[in-house]
Amino acid sequence: MAVFKPENVEDFYEIREVLGSGHFGQVRRVCERTSGTCWAAKFMKLRKNACSRLGLERSSVEREVEILQAVQHPNIVTLKDVFESRAEVVLILELVSGGELFDFIAEKENLLESEAIEFMKQILAGLGFMHSKNIAHFDLKPENIMLSDKVSSHPNVKLIDFGLAYFFNQGEEYRSTSGTPQYIAPEVINCEPLSTACHSCCVLSVLRLSGLSPFQGETNEETLRNIIAMKYDFDERYFSTTSSMAKDFIEKLLVKNPKYYIIFIAVICFQPITRKQVTNRNRSSINMKTFKKFNARRKWKVSLDMYRQCESDVEDTESKPASLLRRRLSSSS
Ligand code: ATP
Repeated sequence: MAVFKPENVEDFYEIREVLGSGHFGQVRRVCERTSGTCWAAKFMKLRKNACSRLGLERSSVEREVEILQAVQHPNIVTLKDVFESRAEVVLILELVSGGELFDFIAEKENLLESEAIEFMKQILAGLGFMHSKNIAHFDLKPENIMLSDKVSSHPNVKLIDFGLAYFFNQGEEYRSTSGTPQYIAPEVINCEPLSTACHSCCVLSVLRLSGLSPFQGETNEETLRNIIAMKYDFDERYFSTTSSMAKDFIEKLLVKNPKYYIIFIAVICFQPITRKQVTNRNRSSINMKTFKKFNARRKWKVSLDMYRQCESDVEDTESKPASLLRRRLSSSS
């Protein structure tokens, strides 16, 4: 178990600009006073009492810390230190300065399928490592896939935000109703037992290849209905430049309750075998127009969700039902 240091974080780190905001606080760049090295500090407000709807339970923060300590991998953000005061916990994390992977892609004029696959491989390497430790992320979405830096032409993928992640004990049944609608697994919506076989990763691969969320409906409710029904299609308008191998890969992933870990499928499907497959792979590209549109809409939606979240937190109406958008409210074994 990590030590939650009682000292004041500001005695050790100089607090700098905001890097991002989550539902439970801000992430800021901080510089270590002794060495000058920069890190990211995630400030998480603690729930004042059991009745309060604001802030996080300490047990939930402990879980995030424990999981971060267990998943030390080049494609996963590293935890350096933890500080605690009466009102908040501060996680000192590796500074991931390359921004979101999706923004990096959206700025490009063109992205080959083979390049997208390189990113996918790194995501799967991080997830595969977590799965080998019986840990599932459960909140895999574009906002949580970042890049190590802005300077190198081939930056490393870094998975962040382990707030919904879960460590499975042998034979344990775990259910949760938390997540983000577009990326949520049908098992979560149906309140079925969950496992590390992760559905959202395949949704991400579809997005990456077509620039289109395969289950996206007009409303969150419609999106959730599409996910439960596994309703999706390869519309020619968006998938005309996608290779048949990639479509085959997606179809294999888009099954409910997959009996196998995606990492295996990835190994099989990402390897072009014949010369023709290699040529097709190199010619196939990402539908950038749709991707850019999707990304702009996604960013707008994230801001809107955050705004709504802030408003409802201010109202603090305890009678409101737990929603699928709200994080870490309900989780039960
Ligand atoms: P959410 O409620 O959206 O799940 P959260 O409260 O759990 O968020 P994070 O997702 O961990 O918080 O962080 C919020 C944002 O802060 C991220 O989207 C990202 O922009 C930024 N961020 C988080 N960790 C880092 C990091 N290690 N380096 C740089 N920026 C980071």
